[in-house]
Amino acid sequence: MSSPTRVVIVGGGAGGITVAARLANSGESLKIQIVEPSDKHYYQPLWTLVGAGVFPREESERNEADFIPPGVEWVKDFVESFQPDQNRVTLRDGRQLEYDYLVVSPGLQINWQNVKGLKEAVGKGGVCSNYDYNTVDSTWEAIRNLKSGNAVFTQPSGVIKCGGAPQKICYLAEDYFRQHGVRQQVNVIFASAAGMIFPVDRYRPSLERVIERKGIQTLYEHDLCEVRASTKEAVFRRPDGSEHAVRYDMLHATPPMGPPDFISRSPLADAGGWVEVNKHTLQHARFANVFGLGDASSLPTSKTGAAIRKQAPVLVENLLAQRAGKPLVGSYDGYTSCPLVTGYSGMILAEFDYDKQPAESFPFDQSQERYSMYLLKKHALPNLYWHGMLRGRA
Ligand code: FAD
Repeated sequence: MSSPTRVVIVGGGAGGITVAARLANSGESLKIQIVEPSDKHYYQPLWTLVGAGVFPREESERNEADFIPPGVEWVKDFVESFQPDQNRVTLRDGRQLEYDYLVVSPGLQINWQNVKGLKEAVGKGGVCSNYDYNTVDSTWEAIRNLKSGNAVFTQPSGVIKCGGAPQKICYLAEDYFRQHGVRQQVNVIFASAAGMIFPVDRYRPSLERVIERKGIQTLYEHDLCEVRASTKEAVFRRPDGSEHAVRYDMLHATPPMGPPDFISRSPLADAGGWVEVNKHTLQHARFANVFGLGDASSLPTSKTGAAIRKQAPVLVENLLAQRAGKPLVGSYDGYTSCPLVTGYSGMILAEFDYDKQPAESFPFDQSQERYSMYLLKKHALPNLYWHGMLRGRA
């Protein structure tokens, strides 16, 4: 009997676990290893609602062990480097793992240090961020403690995970201020490095109406470059190189993000540092037995868990086809989804593809705010994630 095909998966987050589950369910003869250093697995999309006080942060956390599929080996370490010419990865403890196929999904890296003063300021003095489990509670604290002044919400330049998340928390906070009688005393400001609220035509007019209705001040082409905690100033860089300082009483910062350093310096990276994969087949551009998905990949779509839900089955189909010597017919169309929460009772479910064309799931106008979609975000999507997607079933 021939020995099983060895598959090493880098990262046990949304992408890694979903692919592992689907491979384990495939019935093929595979020896699967997941390299993942963390004891905990996070459903990060919930952090928007955690920051708004809807759930405690513990609700977003599970033990990693409970999501390693049966029969799959968990290698609890960091991957340090890749040797794709020898079909090997090297771990931080010096061990090497050999593979027949490699799947790369280590997520992206948050670069707090790229905004001067942010790393030191975040988590206290009204400076907060939903983008880390350790800082998400500070968002809820800042929102409920603010009684007057400027509430500033930022979105950086460059690629971030869930491009809509910076504005969702702005809408939720505005709703909270209104419901708690302080809205008249609070100036809500959304400051974005982008030139518009959302890049997809189908949803932008609805979001512009939300901003108008809520009386939110927008500062476009404002890229946060410094936080001066001592004077409570957020400093923004403008396209012409000038700087504009805005006083804040609360500041929700979305930090700059980029590919993980160990990917950027590896032979798997493209010029931007991301894992260079074919945008339809998810196969690596230079190494036929390497596949990639999720936030660390070069796939030119909005980086979300919803995108991974569509990427994972394509990747598994193509990996198994490659193994069988067949053509790779699985094709990913760039589908991604952004549940744009507009308050504690409304949501616009944006779903679109590589061409920014709508790819909607429901037979109604998804560009409108709906309470039913808010309930989807709050209850149905977390269940779909934990019980469907991570089990390789949805
Ligand atoms: P991750 O899930 O981040 O997992 C990466 C894993 O790799 C981690 O477990 C990490 O420990 C591991 N790892 C890192 N380095 C190494 C290494 N050297 N070796 C081995 N393992 C390593 N998505 C949506 O679909 N809808 C939303 O509404 C939504 N909202 C969001 C709101 C916020 C505030 C945030 C932060 C994210 C949101 N997302 C949303 C995005 C979604 O969470 C990510 O796109 C998704 O988790 C990416 O999955 P991934 O597997 O690529 O990376």
